[in-house]
Amino acid sequence: MDTERIYYEDSFAREFSAEVLSCEPVAVETGDAAAAADAKSVATGAAKLWRVVLNRTVFYPTSGGQPHDVGKLGAANVVDVLDEEDDVVHVVDAAIALATVSGVVDWERRFDHMQQHSGQHVLSAVFHAQSALPTVSFHLGANLCTIDLRGREPTAEILERAAMAANEIVYEDRAVIVKYGTPEELAAAGVRKTVERSGKLRAIEIEGVELQPCGGTHVRRTGQIGMIALRGFSRIRQDWRVEFVCGKRAERLARVDLAMLKSIAQRLNCSVAETVSAAERVVAERDVYFKSARASNEKLAAVDAQSALQTTEIGVDGIRVIVRVFRGVSPEYVQSFAREVAKADKTVALIARSECGHVFFMQHANVGRDMNALLAETFGQVGGKGGGSRDSAGGRLADPQRAAEALQHAVSRLGQSEQTG
Ligand SMILES: [Zn+2]
Repeated sequence: MDTERIYYEDSFAREFSAEVLSCEPVAVETGDAAAAADAKSVATGAAKLWRVVLNRTVFYPTSGGQPHDVGKLGAANVVDVLDEEDDVVHVVDAAIALATVSGVVDWERRFDHMQQHSGQHVLSAVFHAQSALPTVSFHLGANLCTIDLRGREPTAEILERAAMAANEIVYEDRAVIVKYGTPEELAAAGVRKTVERSGKLRAIEIEGVELQPCGGTHVRRTGQIGMIALRGFSRIRQDWRVEFVCGKRAERLARVDLAMLKSIAQRLNCSVAETVSAAERVVAERDVYFKSARASNEKLAAVDAQSALQTTEIGVDGIRVIVRVFRGVSPEYVQSFAREVAKADKTVALIARSECGHVFFMQHANVGRDMNALLAETFGQVGGKGGGSRDSAGGRLADPQRAAEALQHAVSRLGQSEQTG
């Protein structure tokens, strides 16, 4: 017996009663051991989930891009709803007696799905009518919804025009009507999509906008969709993905956006209306300070490098090795310091920055060692990633706390290694 789908006729029905036709434990299909364990748990009545088929239901099963409903069947929670040919299968977390049961759907979730899904019909119809961009897929996500459009790239103007026209249809509060007919009858009535199924089909008409075969749940009038807001746009393979939200989601996001803007304005010490110009000013100032700081850093690094060269003894092999783990200075300073040191004859710089674990090994060419090999060997010992050339190599430690250890290791290897030429 087919499950009577109450939502086909009345998508606003939330409560119902029905006969329980079957209630079977869910079999686990992954591996013999799991199946055996499941068989055992079924035998002892310890199954976790059951599959329930009713003679009628208001629960919508996952299909056509719209997620399933959740809710209650008697005392059991409905955690999933599956569309299996003519049956709607309710996956519940407790066994249900084969008798009459009352059920209720989580209306908050269902109504949200109805707003998003109905909004998608409107948006897809508008893109098709205005710009000949058909919708090839629809996804109703937990936060955002998307449609993928096929054809030429929609410009910003096309997107804005579509959003405005879609919202016009909302304001016009057009009727959303369920229709039935054979594929031929629906095609004659103007259904765009070709349908492979035969027999009597269900279609949704948005008065004066479109007629589409669809088994989903919809609002009664377009006014119930609420605002349709486009949120993003990107290329997905050969198609164009448009992100959008409708109704309560759009309203919630508008509040989130404003809170975010207010928070930014507060940080910039300006009004919400002034955030763009204030942000531009802050970025311009930052760029000026950044340039000036970089120049100062380079000068400071050069002075510090000279001081380090003067206070570091030359080793027995005639090579001067300057080892430093810096903290509280910029990465640019560290690199400049290493570069400056390595300009001196017969000098090696083994430098790290402890905050982030950046490491620089540099030498004057006449030292004749291989900094890249030394870095690779050191990272092999203490962990890290990087590379470079014979005279200059750099990278990042896996654990910045091991900076001193890494440099000590490099110093000892340097003492042992032979000149490479
Ligand atoms: Zn639909």
